[in-house]
Amino acid sequence: MELWFTEKQTSAIGLSCRVTRTLEERQTRFQHLAVLETEPWGRMLVLDGMIQLTTADEFVYHEMLAHVPLVAHGSARCILVVGGGDGGTVREALRHREIERVVLAEIDPEVVEVSRRFFPELAGGLDDPRVELAFGDGIEHVARHPGEYDVVLVDSTEPVGRAVGLFDQPFYEACRRALRPGGILVAQTESPFYNQDLVRRSHSAMSAAFGEPARTYLAPIPTYPSGLWSFTAASIGPDPSRPSARYLGREAPWEPSSLRYYSFGVHQAAFTLPPFVEQLLGSR
Ligand code: SAM
Repeated sequence: MELWFTEKQTSAIGLSCRVTRTLEERQTRFQHLAVLETEPWGRMLVLDGMIQLTTADEFVYHEMLAHVPLVAHGSARCILVVGGGDGGTVREALRHREIERVVLAEIDPEVVEVSRRFFPELAGGLDDPRVELAFGDGIEHVARHPGEYDVVLVDSTEPVGRAVGLFDQPFYEACRRALRPGGILVAQTESPFYNQDLVRRSHSAMSAAFGEPARTYLAPIPTYPSGLWSFTAASIGPDPSRPSARYLGREAPWEPSSLRYYSFGVHQAAFTLPPFVEQLLGSR
């Protein structure tokens, strides 16, 4: 008998794939968690029925979430990842040789535990001596650490349950306060096809919190709803859409050929938005 997993992405659309094995399934204090072995996409982490990552395409998401702000910043030393318990974003941040400290504010320790077991290629970096695990609500963590971080990366679940506040203006205001001068905030902000209201609201809340227009950029992620994903960036100074002058024309700040999606060219191109996205952001 064939086993299929379907993520219901809207009331009328689902994404399905064949499952060869269920490796883990449990209810944590915060969410339903499953790890599936799938035929087309390798291992898959699912929280509350929603795909968080697959080993086939996670590189696009994690590279674009981490390297865009880190390269635009140019000299980040201290990073905060909110959510991101699978370790993929931390792994990417650690590729930057100048990073001294990465704090992971993840609400659910069981996501980290399960990722260490089933996704060692993502979670391996969590044992790096530069990484601190701060289990708890990212909203509270950010409020308690003003002026501490060069870059804040919001690697959250969809806006349900405890993640709802991670898309709101008071959280973005606290993120601005948590940043040092020259700091950059980036958040994953869902699909511009299926979550238009959320993309618009996050952009305008982040713009209001930082007192200047936030910048949205896009990347293709086949296993996320609609396949087209948005990220939204705001900064206290640097232009998030441009690699820092420090890097242009020089050697990239990571091992050559270690990245599969991000490049300086992709970085800049990702901020060129199709007219329908500009329209939904009100910038056209
Ligand atoms: N790449 C993923 C995506 O966009 O689908 C996100 C992956 S990561 C597993 C998301 C993490 O955010 C989850 O482990 C969840 O426990 C965590 N999370 C949700 N709300 C949170 C909050 N308020 N504070 C800290 N972590 C939170």
